[in-house]
Amino acid sequence: MRVKLVAGNWKMNGNLASGQALLKAILPPLAALNRARYAVCAPFPYLVAVGQSLRGSNVAPGAQDLCQFDDGAYTGGVSGAMLADCGCHYVIVGHSERRGVFGETDEVVALKYAQAVKHGLTPILCVGETLAEREAGVTETVVSRQLDAVMRRCGTDALARGVIAYEPVWAIGTGKTATPQQAQAVHAFIRGRIAGADRRLAEVPVLYGGSVKGSNAAQLFAMPDVDGGLIGGASLVGDEFVAICRAAQGAEETVRA
Ligand code: PEP
Repeated sequence: MRVKLVAGNWKMNGNLASGQALLKAILPPLAALNRARYAVCAPFPYLVAVGQSLRGSNVAPGAQDLCQFDDGAYTGGVSGAMLADCGCHYVIVGHSERRGVFGETDEVVALKYAQAVKHGLTPILCVGETLAEREAGVTETVVSRQLDAVMRRCGTDALARGVIAYEPVWAIGTGKTATPQQAQAVHAFIRGRIAGADRRLAEVPVLYGGSVKGSNAAQLFAMPDVDGGLIGGASLVGDEFVAICRAAQGAEETVRA
């Protein structure tokens, strides 16, 4: 059974003190939300401290990226083994900012995904189209290309061990959220595409990301193929993140009622 997951992506924001203050604000209210799953993906330098603060809580630690190579002469790289060593559970792979700003290709993203699985991490694979691609009507083509690159390199067993996040690039950090119907359409497409390769993949969680807030989360999470959210800006605001997590809890309670 798919259970809603809400993962915060702090990106390159804050510092040690602000991260700890944020956790102090969100952990007590989240402790009461026992139906869904929660995670925060912190910057590399804070992973150990964040992991310590999350110990014993119902929030799992995650990273935002990893190196596509094993340990070795890769100055500045952080390997999957290092993330596992720091206690990470999740790692975001192929975020549009990594693809767009840092030039990561589908093949590099696939190599990173393989490293995450190799080291026992749960990759959160981001896929999604730009505004120009949506307007050109090629959303499904783009998302298929991004998914297929990972399936080809890593195989369906590896895909079964991950999470997918549909993040339309035009909705990330812009305040423009996909409507629940727009999100549902692409989520259903993603589920159909991966389940077409291997029926077990129908159970892979597919999160939505792109300007999710406390005020729109419930409508998005009510969609049958939206299994939670990857949250950027709103994950830095304690009350907003908690409200989004409450929406996930509410959606779980509705499904189980
Ligand atoms: C993200 O960066 O993964 C994201 C979804 O950002 P935001 O929520 O700020 O749009």
